[in-house]
Amino acid sequence: MRKNNRFTAGFGVYCCKVCRGRTRQTDQDAAQLGLCAECYELAGEDNMHNDDGTRPTASQAVHYAELLFRISRREGASVQRARDANCYCFPAAAKPRVRWNGEAWRAVV
Ligand SMILES: [Zn+2]
Repeated sequence: MRKNNRFTAGFGVYCCKVCRGRTRQTDQDAAQLGLCAECYELAGEDNMHNDDGTRPTASQAVHYAELLFRISRREGASVQRARDANCYCFPAAAKPRVRWNGEAWRAVV
């Protein structure tokens, strides 16, 4: 019977630089940047939205929420830090912009 080699021996546990959660090295690119896999993915998505000026679609927003949920289950992790670091993925975290049109407050889009 083979031993469980899912985590290569000697690869350490480290704390993600963004969410501060304890994580194992499962993604080499993420680990080289000191990020957990979820924060690494969010950072890439955040860059994309920043570069092309798009807001997350509904399905992307659901996926980002799932990444935050995975982060929330990690020891020592802060979902708020992950949100704050990725303001293009989570534009709802910004203050809502509203304007009085004479009759009612309207969202500024
Ligand atoms: Zn992280």
